[in-house]
Amino acid sequence: GCLPFFAKGVVVKGFGRGSKELGIPTANYTSEVVETLPNDLETGIYYGYAKVDGGPVYKMVMSIGWNPFYKNVKKSMETHILHNFESDFYGSMLKTCIINYIRPEQSYESLDALIDAIKSDIAYADTQLDLPEHSALQTHSFFNAEK
Ligand code: ADP
Ligand code: MG
Repeated sequence: GCLPFFAKGVVVKGFGRGSKELGIPTANYTSEVVETLPNDLETGIYYGYAKVDGGPVYKMVMSIGWNPFYKNVKKSMETHILHNFESDFYGSMLKTCIINYIRPEQSYESLDALIDAIKSDIAYADTQLDLPEHSALQTHSFFNAEK
């Protein structure tokens, strides 16, 4: 398949779904970056690693979905990094390595059900990304290169 897939680009403002209020902020890529995704990559929830500017490589979960801002004709990529940042990093360079698919996107009965699903995705990703077969990608040259 097309995984692992490496992406990089500047973090831009999302469409204000209020994910920060849920305690689950997601950093958005521009549509130019999203367009580099292979067409056969299914929408859904993925896990992998992420790096902001010159910082460390952290675990992440990413939602790849249909972007309501573009009337659902374009995809979006939203990355939640498993780290508590001191402040926002809009405008920063975000590098991501998408490793594995977790589940399709779903609509939930309630906000609480959605939050529970995301929390279980995060817990699952946290465990998976400790496996040596995955953690080797943390030190991939993609993350070391200057640009
Ligand atoms: P937006 O709709 O602009 O994407 P969010 O509520 O989803 O707003 O918040 C995303 C922003 O929060 C990111 O662009 C980033 O600057 C910041 N942020 C802080 N901590 C994290 C994190 N752990 N993972 C992702 N983004 C984070
Ligand atoms: Mg967001």
